[in-house]
This record gives sequence, C-alpha cells and structure tokens, in this order.
Amino acid sequence: RLDERELLYEIGELAAKFYRNLLERNEEAAAARRYLEKRGVDRETAEAYRLGYAPERWDALARYLAQKGVPPEQAEKLGLLRRREGGGFYDTFRNRLLFAITDIHGRIIGFGGRVLDDSLPKYINSPESPIYHKSEVLFGAHLAKGAMREQGSAIVVEGYFDHLALYQAGVRNVVATCGTALTDGHIKLLKRYATKVYTLFDADSAGKKATLRALDLFLQENFPAYVVELTAGEDPDSFVKKEGVTAFQDRLAKARPVIEYFFRDLLRQVDIGTVEGKVRVVEELAPRLAKIANPIERELYVREVSRIVGVENRSLLAKIGRGAAPAN
Ligand code: ATP
Ligand code: MN
Ligand code: MN
Ligand code: MN
Repeated sequence: RLDERELLYEIGELAAKFYRNLLERNEEAAAARRYLEKRGVDRETAEAYRLGYAPERWDALARYLAQKGVPPEQAEKLGLLRRREGGGFYDTFRNRLLFAITDIHGRIIGFGGRVLDDSLPKYINSPESPIYHKSEVLFGAHLAKGAMREQGSAIVVEGYFDHLALYQAGVRNVVATCGTALTDGHIKLLKRYATKVYTLFDADSAGKKATLRALDLFLQENFPAYVVELTAGEDPDSFVKKEGVTAFQDRLAKARPVIEYFFRDLLRQVDIGTVEGKVRVVEELAPRLAKIANPIERELYVREVSRIVGVENRSLLAKIGRGAAPAN
C-alpha cells in the first residue's frame, strides 16, 4: 500500500538521522569515530554516505521512535526493531557503524552495520522489506548515477568500504553488491546508466566465485563486462590505500573482457598440453562463446581459442552450435 510505503520511508529517514547525529556528536560514538579515522574516512565522505552509529544499548532506537510516535510494528517491518519474547521490541543494530542503504533516489531503505573490531558477524544488513528489494538495489547507485551516465561505465565492487574508498579517491561510477549475488534486476539497473561494466571483486576465493557468477550473468544479459584483477588478498579499498589511485586507474585500463578472463583462468587451471586439458577448455568455453551476441566478436574468439587449444575452427563452432550467422 502506498501510504504504508511512505511511512516506511519516513521511519528510515528518522533512523538515519538518529544514527547520524549520534556518530557526529555523541560521547558514546567516540570509538566509532576513531574507527573511521583509522580507516581513513573523512567527514565529507561520512556526510555523503550518511554514516551513523548504533549505540551499545538495547532500546536506543526503540525509545527514539516511540517518542516520535512511530508504531514499533512498522519499524519491525524494516528490520530496525525486533520483537522481544516477553513482549516489546529491541534494537537490531547495536554497537555498529552504519551505512545507509538508499534507493536510486537517495531514500533510505535499510542499513548495513559493521562491528568496530573483529567480532562476528562482521556485518549485519537490513532484511528485504516492502521498500527494500535486494535483487534490485545496488549500494551507492544514488551517488554513482551521474558519473555512470557521464562515463558510460559502471564499476561493480563487493563491499561498503570499497565503495567509500573509491568515492573518496574520486572514482564515482561505482556500485556495490554488499553480500548479495548479482541479479538480472541489478543488470537492468546498470543498463539504465551505463553501456559497459567493470567487475572489481575481492582478490580472494569468495570474490573469485562472485566474479565467475557475475560474468556468466553479464554474458547471458549481453552486457559488455570487463574484469579488473587486483593483487592477491586485496580488495579495492585496501588496494587504493596501499597503491594509490593512479595504480588503480592503471588496473582499470588493463581490464580484460569477460571471455578472455574465463580463458586465462582456465589456462591457469588446466594443462593445455594434454588432451584432457584441451577438452576441458573447450567444454567450459563453448557455452560461453555461444552467448557472445556479436557474430564478428564471436568468430574472432572462436578462432583464437581454436588456435591456442589446437582444434579446427569448425569443431569448436559445431560444439557451440552456433555458426557465423547472427542470432539476434
Ligand atoms: P571490511 O573492509 O570492513 O573488512 P569488506 O567489505 O572488505 O569489509 P568482505 O568480507 O570482503 O568485507 O565482504 C564484502 C561485503 O559483503 C561486505 O561489505 C558486506 O556488504 C557483505 N558481508 C560481509 N560479511 C557479511 C556478513 N557476515 N553478513 C552479511 N553481509 C556480509
Ligand atoms: Mn572478501
Ligand atoms: Mn573485502
Ligand atoms: Mn575490505
């Protein structure tokens, strides 16, 4: 219902202001401010992202919202309050640094909260709600939309701090998946602003898996995608801090198209000198080559792969079940 959604937006806004105000000036948030300083976040960035702090109390937000006349059942729908067993409600976010999750218009729809040390879970994120559909929201899209449109490209990263670090370094066409797998809804959103995308996931095993998944989706959706590879163990935040934004731009310039990334990745894993290795490369690449919509591009890759693997072009073409004729 329309008016219910309006109320939820209002509650999100109230909560964001409450948490922001605490981070800005409350004694309770001293450790959170130190944490931000340690991570190199300046005040301007904190303001742009509407960063906040949820205090280490069970009822800080609950009391505040009650005082504002907000029905707790509504705040519960946003995942901000949870129901106590004996009745009443308690705060979901406690002693966490909060990232405001907004929709494309900048309206608050949820939060992501990070602990200030290395306790677990590291992050807690707001659940799905009538105003937060995770398969359609990318973190930071509101801040990035102008730059995405201007540059015609989007950079997709994994984490809150990756987004923030790049923003602070002046790289603005960035969105983050924040723990959710990329969906066709996300790609639809990206297509509204950009004509190509760079995936820039963490150089660790989770990031690698996310990259492979995302690339298949980009191929599926026929959206030109490039892969940026970082030094092993780094994520965009740590990379930019260690190596600087020039080194980052350099990596971006060296990004490889999806299919080349798959190919190189396979060549790292299999022994191309054996029949078994060659078969594996063909098996893995063929369905992906089949998805390349541009027939010229497809043909060129087929030739390249055939040459390196050492099979006839037509064998590979037969395998992908798609000749030189365009399919769309
Ligand atoms: P930091 O730099 O603060 O350690 P990060 O962004 O590098 O954080 P990763 O472990 O690389 O953290 O995770 C990437 C993203 O995935 C996070 O920014 C967050 O959005 C999401 N995420 C990570 N851990 C969790 C978790 N336990 N629950 C929900 N989401 C998570
Ligand atoms: Mn990671
Ligand atoms: Mn990371
Ligand atoms: Mn990180």
